[in-house]
Amino acid sequence: MISSARKRVAVIGGGISGLAAAHRVHELDPEIELTLYEAQPQLGGVVQTARRDGFLWEWGPDNFITQLPWGLQLCRRIGLEPELLPTDDQHRQAFVVRRGRLRKIPQGFVIMAPSRIWPVIATPILSPWGKLRMACEFFLPGQKAEHDESLASFVIRRFGRETYDRLVQPLVGGIYTGDPHQLSVRMTMPRFVEMERSHGSLIRAIWSRRSARSPATTGTSGARYSLFVAPREGMSSLTGALAGRLPAGTVHTGAPVVQIAPRPPHGWTVTLGGSPSKTHSVDAVVVAIPGPAASRLLADVDPVCSQRLGEIHYASCSITSLAYRREQIAHRLDGFGFVVPLREKRSILSGSFASVKYAGRAPDGEVLLRAFIGGACQPELAELPEDELIATAHREFADLLGIRGEPRQVQVSRHPQTMAQYYVGHQQRVEQIEARLARYPGLFMAGNAFEGVGIPQCIHRGERTAEQVVAGLRDDSPASPVSGESICRT
Ligand SMILES: Cc1cc2nc3c(=O)[nH]c(=O)nc-3n(C[C@H](O)[C@H](O)[C@H](O)COP(=O)(O)OP(=O)(O)OC[C@H]3O[C@@H](n4cnc5c(N)ncnc54)[C@H](O)[C@@H]3O)c2cc1C
Repeated sequence: MISSARKRVAVIGGGISGLAAAHRVHELDPEIELTLYEAQPQLGGVVQTARRDGFLWEWGPDNFITQLPWGLQLCRRIGLEPELLPTDDQHRQAFVVRRGRLRKIPQGFVIMAPSRIWPVIATPILSPWGKLRMACEFFLPGQKAEHDESLASFVIRRFGRETYDRLVQPLVGGIYTGDPHQLSVRMTMPRFVEMERSHGSLIRAIWSRRSARSPATTGTSGARYSLFVAPREGMSSLTGALAGRLPAGTVHTGAPVVQIAPRPPHGWTVTLGGSPSKTHSVDAVVVAIPGPAASRLLADVDPVCSQRLGEIHYASCSITSLAYRREQIAHRLDGFGFVVPLREKRSILSGSFASVKYAGRAPDGEVLLRAFIGGACQPELAELPEDELIATAHREFADLLGIRGEPRQVQVSRHPQTMAQYYVGHQQRVEQIEARLARYPGLFMAGNAFEGVGIPQCIHRGERTAEQVVAGLRDDSPASPVSGESICRT
């Protein structure tokens, strides 16, 4: 029996989701005995930063959006806000590749809808017919049906094929590394669905809201880079700061959890890999790992839940970072990066001008670029050998940006099966998972498999989960027993 005085909670997974959950549990109730298990030797999951030779190398994410408040709010609470850098206003624009050249994404074009007329009329990215078809969106009646739809189908229906192919597909590919023909519009871009519902047309909705003059829809283009921030010393400052606020002895790295099991009458056991394997008893467990790994862990606990988790797709990508001297690059680099339509038949999803976006990423006179390769539509490219990834990224950058000579430094990071893809029907799948989880008091799930892949959404889910954990443990009434019968029913 666990002592009733001190409750024990295990968090499985030391990415941003697990760290946010563990931190929130400790924040709410420092008396809880907390353990965080991370399979890898280091914390952070896909969030990894290194400072080397004057460059700041980000292995995975390099910033987060502030429009969703949870990342910023957490940074405030942990004292990291003064360290957050805004993007450099001077270069607040992005490009899209069109016929082998970088073209500015029209000002005010946000993911899929224009908020300004003139930049769209003037853009060489779309043909006159494409522009006319886009303008027709204003007059198209809205669809009120409740069924889910793919992002591609939604955009083609509203704005036409050309806007989809030349602008929306590459922008969405750049964010989700995903295939818009599979992605659920409701889960990935819910506010656009809501705009269609409320105003009948996205253009009408954006224009009617423009009176508020939100910077989100004016004067920016592409993925709304101006709303992003990054810690001065990189994203690992965030995960490091969270870990640093946990009590000593909480974090166990190199500790893969191989099994969880209910411990009647209530509570859970967590078994670590290795020999001899160790088993710990806890009152509640938070599983904060990617869908496929969570599916394996829950296979014996609830086969149905495990199956639903296993159905959540994950895409792979690689990031190749290349450093050049500024004078090697002919392009003005007057933006934050570019996205590449699949129709251009290139081997790169997007390119980021990392040291232009944020100050302090490269020494004076040097430039750091990041190439995203692979994703759901070109999965084989993510698995190229390292030298081919470097050659591919350099070739693409050299061609698109007019680069002479070789990169001075390179770094490859691989992200196999890390980016959750919310396919059509995802919401229903998540509801089914939540319904199954509700049968198991003390078992909770966080992570990017559920309701958002961005850092703020992962933080939000982790923190809300922690709040449920603490509320459950505080509840004086004994938790309903977990019996073998309730566990294995399918
Ligand atoms: C290349 C890339 C770039 C991105 N860029 C951005 C960006 O700029 N901005 C943004 O907001 N979002 C970005 N994202 C998305 C965001 O970074 C991720 O969705 C988020 O970091 C996921 O965090 P997580 O903790 O849920 O999962 P992960 O980071 O995957 O962490 C899960 C952890 O669980 C551990 N684990 C797995 N199984 C076990 C086990 N059995 N026992 C113990 N530990 C286990 C893993 O080792 C891992 O450390 C990016 C994602 C990728 C892949």
